[in-house]
Amino acid sequence: MEFDLLVKNGVVVFPDRPEAPLDVAISGGRIAAVLSPGSNAEARNVIDAAGKHVFPGLIDCHVHYGFGEKITEYATETGYAAQGGFSTILAYLLNTGSYDDIFERELGYASERSHVDFGFHLSMANEVHLQQLPHYVRDFGIGSFKYYMNFKGEEGRYMGLDGTDDGFLYELLGVAAKLHDIVVVCHTENIEIVSRIRRKLQQEGRDTLRDWGLSKPPITEAENLIRAAFFAETLGATIYIPHVSSRLSIDETRAWRKRYANVFLETCPHYLTHTMDMDIGSIGKANPPFKTEDDRLALWEALADGTIEVVASDHVPRKRATKEKPLWQASQGFPGTATILPVLLSEGYHKGRISLARICDAVTAAPARIFHIDDRKGHIRPGYDADLTLVDLQLERVMVPSEFASYSDYSLYEGWTFRGWPVRTIVRGETVMNEGKLVGKPGWGQYLGRAGRQAGGRA
Ligand SMILES: [Zn+2]
Repeated sequence: MEFDLLVKNGVVVFPDRPEAPLDVAISGGRIAAVLSPGSNAEARNVIDAAGKHVFPGLIDCHVHYGFGEKITEYATETGYAAQGGFSTILAYLLNTGSYDDIFERELGYASERSHVDFGFHLSMANEVHLQQLPHYVRDFGIGSFKYYMNFKGEEGRYMGLDGTDDGFLYELLGVAAKLHDIVVVCHTENIEIVSRIRRKLQQEGRDTLRDWGLSKPPITEAENLIRAAFFAETLGATIYIPHVSSRLSIDETRAWRKRYANVFLETCPHYLTHTMDMDIGSIGKANPPFKTEDDRLALWEALADGTIEVVASDHVPRKRATKEKPLWQASQGFPGTATILPVLLSEGYHKGRISLARICDAVTAAPARIFHIDDRKGHIRPGYDADLTLVDLQLERVMVPSEFASYSDYSLYEGWTFRGWPVRTIVRGETVMNEGKLVGKPGWGQYLGRAGRQAGGRA
């Protein structure tokens, strides 16, 4: 039989076992077979992956679009993702009113422009959202909902949100627990403690990156994490803690999992590379803030031993100008999807901190499993979507933001030389990025409905 495409002579990387030299055969946009080298399989097209490692298509399950050019960001940011080796993204949507008012519109924008497959998480911020949650699951195919534990009182006003409280979270977890395969993403931050420390620092006129870090000490992240885990245990809900930044949160999660296992952890590349003592000013402002060197090393250890399941970017595509302000006014977060893999390979694998299998799991199988897209995504197996990322582990390249498609015009890693870069991204059998350049067309990406609504489908 003749396949559509054969990716041959590469070394296939798995999330749960050592890599092996294998050929991957593709037909109809799906993986048709995984073959021993020299199988003599016939294909209409062949990609020679000699010297390359072949990962399942990478999944960035934590991105925020719409901070710059709301509509075109589905093209620029998914292009940036493809340049970083990512074949799937899961983006957070936030709307103050019902998601009925925006969902089909956003789905349309993304369907017409996305280079890679995409799904959504919805932020739950008011009573309407809570009441409509089962409808979002059933009719929009949403399987994950975010709650900001810090948006109490006036804290979320800058996003247009009324404050909610623990009662809201408790009810949200209860509603989610009664439905199948629903994950509640909890931003954990004890804002009552943060507010008091922050006021004091501001009164003292303190405004360094270190002061930003001091305004949100590890206890504020870890205490909320424990509370969310306690609620989740009581109600039988599954929770996911994004952007974990401290040793304390890791240690507390290890302890908590002995009594309740459905607590998943994510960290972001910047917590693996930066500390609050780096003197880089407000460009380094993220929420949560960078912590200490001890925290940074604890995150690598937790990633290596599997305590942290997922690495994702928390990508926010703003311009540099929004960062170049006094610390307390500067915007939070960074563009990040395209540098996830170079950070993990250069700072992790090449420094002996982590195996290729662990890297693979953290950016493919684990996010697919946790967010329930692992019927199609996250593995190189027959029947799965033919999403592949070809990686040159030895390629050295300097991070130059202007070489990337993002609306943002800077990177936390500008000028850094990384060893290990993706060189080709394949989405359902089509190459969308080759040797750093976008070659696919906007609109190739398909919507990944979960739960009630099927992949690719418009209801
Ligand atoms: Zn985020």
